[in-house]
Amino acid sequence: MIIHDNNQTIAKRLTDLMIQFHVNGTLWTKIKNIIETPLFVDSQLTSMVQAADLCSYALRRYFENQEGELINNIFIRADRKDGKVVGVRHFSDPKCQCMICSAR
Ligand SMILES: [Zn+2]
Repeated sequence: MIIHDNNQTIAKRLTDLMIQFHVNGTLWTKIKNIIETPLFVDSQLTSMVQAADLCSYALRRYFENQEGELINNIFIRADRKDGKVVGVRHFSDPKCQCMICSAR
């Protein structure tokens, strides 16, 4: 199940993307056990969406201000496969040495 902050502008695009993932899988894996349509909720009322917002904020502070305090507490919980981080991705120069690129 995927729950996303309610944003009418991107709801249709995300729903279509999720249907595509359901049919073709993602870059890393097929998705067998997931509901095809995301649920859109008001983030003011949903603590897990607020937690996702906090993760996004920590990533932004890390990349824009080189602040590591928040990201250090969150990054240790990023999904890993065979010891490599797959739950967070930094799309950048292949030579990037940030903590995310170094862990994949
Ligand atoms: Zn990087």
